[in-house]
Amino acid sequence: MDFIIRKGRLPGYAEPMDIGISDGILREIKKGIAKRATDELNADGKLILPGFVDSHVHMDKAMSVTPQSFRHGSILERVQHLNTLKKSFNKENVCERATALAKIFARRGILNVRTDVDVDLVVGLKGVEGILETKKRCKDFINIQIFAFAQEGIINHPEVAGLLERALEMGADGVAGHTSIEAQGKKHVNAIIRIAEKHEVDVDFHVDENADPDNSLLEYVISMVTSEGYSGRTNAIHCATLGVVTSDDAIRLSEKMAEAGVNVTICPGTKVLDLPLAPAQILTKSGVNVSLGSDNIRDPINPLGSGNPLVLGAMLSHWQKLLNEEELLSLVSMVTENGARTLGIKDTYGLTVGNPADLVILDCGTPVDAVLDVPQIVEIFKNGKKISESITF
Ligand SMILES: [Zn+2]
Repeated sequence: MDFIIRKGRLPGYAEPMDIGISDGILREIKKGIAKRATDELNADGKLILPGFVDSHVHMDKAMSVTPQSFRHGSILERVQHLNTLKKSFNKENVCERATALAKIFARRGILNVRTDVDVDLVVGLKGVEGILETKKRCKDFINIQIFAFAQEGIINHPEVAGLLERALEMGADGVAGHTSIEAQGKKHVNAIIRIAEKHEVDVDFHVDENADPDNSLLEYVISMVTSEGYSGRTNAIHCATLGVVTSDDAIRLSEKMAEAGVNVTICPGTKVLDLPLAPAQILTKSGVNVSLGSDNIRDPINPLGSGNPLVLGAMLSHWQKLLNEEELLSLVSMVTENGARTLGIKDTYGLTVGNPADLVILDCGTPVDAVLDVPQIVEIFKNGKKISESITF
C-alpha cells in the first residue's frame, strides 16, 4: 500500500474508516487496516468526501478583472466591457488566467470541472486553444472538460458552426449553446444538437437565463433531448424561468425534465445580476439531477467568486431556505456525485474501492457541517497523491 488515511469519517459509514491507496486507486476502505503503508495520515475523525465537481464555469473569461478594474453597470454594459476585453484574448493569456483559476479550484477541492469556452467571430478558437493548453498543464491536479460554446450565436453567425466543429476536432469534449442570444432560439438548439450528434459528444445549453417565461425555450430543449436521444447527456444551465413561474408550473416542468433525463446546473453567483435561480428543491424532489456551477468568476459579468463549491452551497441554502438536514445534504450531493453524473464520470467517481483516489479531507465531522461551517481543507488527494502543497501560485 502506498498510502493509508486513518480514521476518516466517510458518508454512509457509522464509524471512522481507514482508506488504503496504491497506484492512485482506492484499494481498501475498512475499519482498522492492519498493514502499514509507506506514508500515512491520521484524519482524526475528520470528514472525507470525493473531490468536488463544478459543472459550469467560463474559465476562458475568468480572472480578467480585479476589484480595481471592475466597472458597475447594466448587464448589457458589462457584456460590452467583456467583449472589449475579449479582443485582446490569445492562447497565452487565456491559459495564464485559466491556470490561475484551476489552481484556486484545486485548492478548494474541485478536481473535476466543465468549462464552456467562447467560440465566436471575435475570439475565434483562441479561447479553446488556451483552455486546451490549460487542461494539459493542470492535468495532475484537476480534470477539465472543455465545451465549445456558441456564446454569440450560430444562426446569426453561420461561420461559427464550422468553428465549433474545428474545436471538437482539436480536442474539445462537447458543444454548448446559448439559447437566448438570438431571435431564432429553436434553430439555435437544433444546430447545436446536430453538431453534438455528428461528433457524438454531450451538450450544454444555457437555457432561460433571463427568466422570461414568454420567451422560454425550456420545453423545446426538453422535447429535443427526448426526440434526439440525449437523455443524461444534456446539461441545462440556469433554467431561471423555473424561479419566476408558479410552483405548480415549476413542478410540471421539473417532472418533464426528470423524465427526459435533463441535468440542471444552478449558478448561485448569478444573483449578483439580480437574476432568479431555479428552485433546487422542486427540481431535486421531481427527480432532476441538480449540480452547482461557478459560472462567471472574476470577470466583467461577475467580479466575485471564491471558487469554493461549499460557498456556492451555503449561498443557495440561504437564498432558497434550504434549512433541514435533508436539504443541506442535497447541497453536498450537488457539488459531488450529482456534478459527476452531469459530467458523465459517475462510473469512476466516488469513495468506492477500485475508483481513482480523488478525495478531500475537510476540517469538520459531517456532510451537514460541510455546508454549515464551510470548513478549511486539511488535504486533497488526486490520483492518490497529495496535491495541496504542490499547487503553487
Ligand atoms: Zn454560463
